[in-house]
Amino acid sequence: MSYTYDDQNIFAKILRGEIPNKTVLETDHTLAFHDIYPQAPIHVLVIPKGPYVCYDHFCQEASDAEILDFNRTFGKVCEMVGVKDGGFRTIANAGENAIQEVPHLHFHILGGRNLGRMLA
Ligand code: ADP
Repeated sequence: MSYTYDDQNIFAKILRGEIPNKTVLETDHTLAFHDIYPQAPIHVLVIPKGPYVCYDHFCQEASDAEILDFNRTFGKVCEMVGVKDGGFRTIANAGENAIQEVPHLHFHILGGRNLGRMLA
């Protein structure tokens, strides 16, 4: 399956500087920022700057440099926002079944409280 990227999505607009964000960390290939509707005391989104719809798309088409940068940035952000002591959850929704609302790959990092069980 191939993916079609819609460059009018809200995260594309953030990356172009058309709407503001509360940045945690920005690198050559990656941006991390606070979620506008936090679901936990700590709720950060980590996104690649490239036009990838979901993690599968990213894994198939991103360069080695983008993949390395995304993962290293993810680790640095976890350190910066202080989720490592109590533990945290990472989610990357993809497509309709997962109710992905913004069609630009994003990893949620949630922490700062007991998150309960995710899988019923
Ligand atoms: P869901 O809303 O079901 O979690 P997604 O996995 O696509 O769907 O997550 C999109 C996330 O983007 C949501 O947590 C939402 O609060 C967040 N969001 C939407 N607009 C903005 C924005 N302008 N700045 C920061 N976060 C945003």
